[in-house]
Amino acid sequence: MELKIRDLVKRAAEDLKKANYAIALSGAGISTESGIPDFRGPSGIWRKDLQAEKKAYQSYEKFLEDPKGYWEDRLSTPSLLGDLEEAKPNPGHYALAELEKMGILKCLITQNIDGLHEKAGSRNLIEYHGSYFKLRCSKCGSRSGIKEIDLEQLREEEKLPPLCKCGGVIKSDIVHFKEPIPIDAAKRSQEEAWKCDVMLICGTSAVVYPFAQLPRLAKKHMTEEEIKMESGLYLVKQVPFTTIIEVNAEPTPLTEEGISNYLIQGKAGEILPGIVQEAKRL
Ligand code: NAD
Repeated sequence: MELKIRDLVKRAAEDLKKANYAIALSGAGISTESGIPDFRGPSGIWRKDLQAEKKAYQSYEKFLEDPKGYWEDRLSTPSLLGDLEEAKPNPGHYALAELEKMGILKCLITQNIDGLHEKAGSRNLIEYHGSYFKLRCSKCGSRSGIKEIDLEQLREEEKLPPLCKCGGVIKSDIVHFKEPIPIDAAKRSQEEAWKCDVMLICGTSAVVYPFAQLPRLAKKHMTEEEIKMESGLYLVKQVPFTTIIEVNAEPTPLTEEGISNYLIQGKAGEILPGIVQEAKRL
């Protein structure tokens, strides 16, 4: 690890140790080292396959207009992200789970649908864009495991789409482009973003909204600090409440707009374990 990165890793460990309420945010970049491609990174799916992007933007409309066709498409098309059943967490996922076990991270909000944070042991987890391994009723919002319903059998018996006990149509729990974020995840995430005094953001291009609004919301949270002047009088100054740390392979709009306090540029699977190591040493 080069010197500048090592200094920033140490700074992040110190910021996290000092925090009263630290949370983490993650995106597709944390899972690339598990062999799952991201969308917008240098080898991202969108950069190679424009048709895939176009199709992804149509999924939600397809569900609303033709839920049977939506399910037939899903069951006959392999996932763009590869075999998620087989995917394994990498040192980046384990490092975030370890920070939670150490009592440092209070919550993790992920955009990922791959289930790897849960497999790595993260417990207070908000899956902002849902999970590949779950189903969700479009009417009552209740969730179930993907294996609780035999979708293949429903297809064979011409009984698609699956229906909930409440009569609503069941879709994948994955939040498709243009689909609203489920209210439970949206509300909890906003509360966490406002409450935290350190936000560790890992592997996201921070261009997908409303998720990308969370660091911006944290940035708006100001607190008052008393500064003693030479005259002996005190000046009350508004200062940011939250320290925002980015771990990403490349700068993002959060870096460029000064939303994050600093960027540790590199691989999440190397930097996050480095932060854990430092935090244990402190
Ligand atoms: P993105 O593809 O837009 O951006 C990923 C970012 O991570 C890029 O800036 C890239 O440079 C960086 N990155 C790549 N590898 C990295 C590494 N090893 N270490 C550190 N940084 C790395 O991803 P996004 O911001 O999460 O937005 C994409 C949307 O697509 C999300 O909503 C997500 O739900 C979905 N998605 C999920 C998965 C998954 O579940 N694994 C994969 C692809 C896309």
